Amino acid sequence: MKITVTGERPVFKPLRQNIDMHWHEGIWTTENAHYTHKDSFSLVGKPVTLNINGNLSEEEIKYIFVSNLDCMTFDQNHNLIKNELTGNLEMLDECKKHPQKKAYAVCQAGYGDPKNIEKLLRENPDKFVGLKFHPMVFQKDVNSGAYEPYMKIAEKYNLPCLFHSDKTGSFACPKKIYELAKKFPKVPVILAHLGAGTNHQDAINVLLDSIETGRANLYGDTSWVDCKNQEMPTLKALIKRLQNTSKGDQTQRLLFGSDAPLGEFGAPGKKIEGFYAQNLSDFKTMICRNFKENADKLTDKICFYNAKELFLDKNWVKNTKYLTARTVSIILAALALAGGIAGSLYFNHTKTTPKTDITTLPARHFQIFG
Ligand SMILES: [Zn+2]
Repeated sequence: MKITVTGERPVFKPLRQNIDMHWHEGIWTTENAHYTHKDSFSLVGKPVTLNINGNLSEEEIKYIFVSNLDCMTFDQNHNLIKNELTGNLEMLDECKKHPQKKAYAVCQAGYGDPKNIEKLLRENPDKFVGLKFHPMVFQKDVNSGAYEPYMKIAEKYNLPCLFHSDKTGSFACPKKIYELAKKFPKVPVILAHLGAGTNHQDAINVLLDSIETGRANLYGDTSWVDCKNQEMPTLKALIKRLQNTSKGDQTQRLLFGSDAPLGEFGAPGKKIEGFYAQNLSDFKTMICRNFKENADKLTDKICFYNAKELFLDKNWVKNTKYLTARTVSIILAALALAGGIAGSLYFNHTKTTPKTDITTLPARHFQIFG
């Protein structure tokens, strides 16, 4: 809460809120780092001051959605530091202590057991915000079949799935993620990084295709996309395309995520002071300059409301159920109507023509049912 004193009375102005839906804590040997709550807290424990197109804005990171890197890191003997039960429960306990944090359950597809994740979700109802997959760490192709039992659980518990996505043809190839997501079209699947280490076009193409065809429920996050490029041409072009799909405005498919505290956010030897605020400032400035009259609304959607709806409020679950019920009633009504028409046609037909003996009709008459 920011207090501004104007004249006699203090005015309480709520801070602008954000959700960072891609965060980590734990051991990450690639960077020789052990990220603790202290690292998270030092970045977003207090309000962050952004510079949005020259205007200072004090903002709150209301929530960070965290996955435990211990479940994605192997020790020297090639054993995972923590398994799906111990690592995810530890993160859940952490989140109970710090309400700003909400936990993903990390799925060790290829190494773990989907039954572990089912047990966690059953015993801790509504506590995990989503499932997290990192196919590059486990070197398991997304279209290998190892992920399907986990996706079934995501479907059952209505949980979004965050997939690290990477280069085309890799274990975490965006096209392979799309292939899997098509088998579970109700499950929201987020392409983290929109294809890390690429020009993002393959990931963006599958995201847009999923919207146009409705064959999967894909999303993308902003982490490392156009990083350090203040113009942010990829995200700018993507937002414009999402605003103008044949299904109308689909900007709800883009979510702000940072991947902090990895890399320049806080890795030893890589850390850049103030990088978190700079990264978020660059993104909001790009929107402010290019989407003028809609800028505030759009910024708040991508940086707060989209994640709030997808992971927390989850109206999409109710809508899916409503749609299913509505679809069933429409089909039943259509069948009843068709039955009525057919009945009356049959009635009229039998009044005027003699009955045909069906045993004398050629086989092609029955193909429509066969
Ligand atoms: Zn990550």
